[in-house]
Amino acid sequence: MSHRRPAENDAAAGTAPPEPQVAGAVDPVELAEAVRGAARRLGFSLVGIAPAVDAPGWERLRAWVDAGMAGAMDYVARRLPAYRHPQNVLPGVRSVVMLGMDYHTPARRPVEAGYGRVSSYAWGSADYHDVIRGRLRRLAGVLHERVPGCRTRGVVDTAPLLERDFARLAGLGWFGKNTMLINKRRGSFFFLAALLTDVPLAPDEPFATAHCGTCTRCIDACPTEAIRHDGTLDARRCISYLTIELRDRPIPEDLRGGLGDWVFGCDVCQDVCPWNRHARPTTEPAFEPRPDLNPLELTRLFELDEAAFRERFGDTPLARPGRSGILRNAAIVLGNTGDARFVEPLAVALNDPDAIVRGAAAWALGCIGGAESVAALRRRAALESDPEVAEEITRALRAAIGTDAVGDGEAPSTTSGQRAASGPGVLPGGLETGDTCRESE
Ligand code: SF4
Repeated sequence: MSHRRPAENDAAAGTAPPEPQVAGAVDPVELAEAVRGAARRLGFSLVGIAPAVDAPGWERLRAWVDAGMAGAMDYVARRLPAYRHPQNVLPGVRSVVMLGMDYHTPARRPVEAGYGRVSSYAWGSADYHDVIRGRLRRLAGVLHERVPGCRTRGVVDTAPLLERDFARLAGLGWFGKNTMLINKRRGSFFFLAALLTDVPLAPDEPFATAHCGTCTRCIDACPTEAIRHDGTLDARRCISYLTIELRDRPIPEDLRGGLGDWVFGCDVCQDVCPWNRHARPTTEPAFEPRPDLNPLELTRLFELDEAAFRERFGDTPLARPGRSGILRNAAIVLGNTGDARFVEPLAVALNDPDAIVRGAAAWALGCIGGAESVAALRRRAALESDPEVAEEITRALRAAIGTDAVGDGEAPSTTSGQRAASGPGVLPGGLETGDTCRESE
């Protein structure tokens, strides 16, 4: 379903924008106040206005991409020139209205083995993109009503706009060391969105200070050491990137253990941030947690075919990594438990039509070990035609048996030799997060 407004289509076509009929007609201060009031009535708890200028963080973005830290997010590199100025999102833009909508619900339920944690932004009954796009359209309506012929474009993640940069310029907060935009009164559990317009609006003062001080909690807590002390996030190590953005390929083996029980996204660097003591509960019913996402039961996921997966998750953010990504992640989380109760569902996953899922299931069975895991891996080894999965199975058998003598008829261990019950981030055999169970060989 297209959510594009006629104005957006004009922008995309690159036609010369007509001047909005605002000069001398509407006071930019009064209009800015009207936009702020309307935004708050539409459920945006944060609203600020930035001038449409070069994005201050563009050079930093370029250096980050050049350093390879965007990983497989090729779309960032492809659209790099467009991030330089918001006119590449809306020709003729003069003002960037930056908005924040709270999604925090203080209701994270305990996670038992067999369940996976979902980042709290995705708990709701509707995809936040759809919810916010609808509000942005209504906010744009306020401008169109007052300034006929003006141009607007709503943005929520989808356009090459450095949203955090413009949020800081609009006075909404500073960049925390965890790279999130932090607001003194609300923390960071809010979605950022923008409404671009060619209407001049009185801007807010930029947020000029930063308030992390000597705190390093997010850096210290990150299970995969993705946050650097200079405030740079190496996306290639970030659990959110690995579980959501890294699609159609395996998660690097040395990072699988770091997922712990995160099956979609990660909240660790926000959960530990002291500023999130100020986070306010959302007032948006669509963001109240769906019981089946907080947390997500994993073992039954392997029974879902593509159509059943779409039926259940198609209107949630989990659709982005899709069935392949979510089942891959689920297998890794089950492997991280080291719990022999999950051999049976993982043996189902080992015969999945999707090679990415089969490879993850093989790794997980190798982590759990035991006679049943070995038997399942050997059965699949006899059938497997994908060379990468076959290699995963070979390595998993070595890990499960604890010897390189795979296939020599040796008696496999009947105990997993893995952890019994441990928290996220601690791997079988007492390895620390970031290692893999294979490194115990
Ligand atoms: Fe800044 Fe500490 Fe929050 Fe990290 S946890 S963003 S260092 S205040």
